[in-house]
Amino acid sequence: YKINMQELQVMEEIGKGQYGTVQKVYHIPTNVTMAMKEIRLELDQAKLKQILMELDILHKAKSEYIVDFYGAFFIESCVYYCMEYMDAGSLDKLYGNGVPEDVLAKITSAMVKGLSFLKDKLNIIHRDVKPTNVLVNRAGEVKLCDFGVSGQLTQSLAKTNIGCQSYMAPERIHSSEASTYTVQSDVWSLGLAMVELGTGKYPYPVPDKNEQISMFVQLNAIVAGTPPSLPEDKFSEECRDFVAQCLSKRPQDRPTYKQLLDHPFLTKYENVEVDMKSWAEQAFNLRKNEQNEP
Ligand code: ADP
Repeated sequence: YKINMQELQVMEEIGKGQYGTVQKVYHIPTNVTMAMKEIRLELDQAKLKQILMELDILHKAKSEYIVDFYGAFFIESCVYYCMEYMDAGSLDKLYGNGVPEDVLAKITSAMVKGLSFLKDKLNIIHRDVKPTNVLVNRAGEVKLCDFGVSGQLTQSLAKTNIGCQSYMAPERIHSSEASTYTVQSDVWSLGLAMVELGTGKYPYPVPDKNEQISMFVQLNAIVAGTPPSLPEDKFSEECRDFVAQCLSKRPQDRPTYKQLLDHPFLTKYENVEVDMKSWAEQAFNLRKNEQNEP
């Protein structure tokens, strides 16, 4: 089944990304509310068609830890990507001053399960693990989105992808070769995301407008500095060790997904009920109130 623009009713804008907007849309034939991402690309028809073909394997990416894919189409030089609407939004806007350890455990567990599903079932490396790409709904579910399924799309976007917060592993900074990208690099990004979620702050210096801090300062800190960690007073030894292992400087020292799933931090919380629904509701409401303040 192929989705097209005629079947969609635009409801409202949800967010603005680097490459275009994300809109909440209603798919009339199926009665489903979706999130439609517009990606503006300067590409010819053949390349756009290739992207759609490559995105097609997403129809097989059915997992409770992966945002559902409904279909994609292009109009002129824009690709429109329709996915499950996650009504609490992305983690970067929900973590506030930092999430407690039990919530972090559930988020981490979902992320590792999602990443290992992509790797084992579809042989996909995410390539862009960060809080913005982890979505939450008000049922308390946590799912991954925006992973590198389409080589052509990844390639087309890479040229412009210079964010101000880098989740790149040290070895990625050393080499811009796409071929050196392995799952280990995603494990680094996972560890970095966990520090950010737990502390409420991106842990490296962020380049500013006055260029007091340059991109070089940030990348140098990632490559040459001691990896960041979670504070002892708020996080258990198991939790801190999990992060420390993910943030090993040498990629070969980082654990596999299997090892991460068996790590005491995740096994400890596996049988613990954490009310993720209440957490998501609360985080979402806090965020909404902040937005309404002038
Ligand atoms: P970026 O280019 O920075 O990765 P995106 O274009 O992916 O950002 O998304 C922009 C914003 O839109 C996100 O921060 C998120 O809050 C929102 N968003 C993206 N996808 C969805 C979705 N499936 N459901 C709900 N909100 C979404």
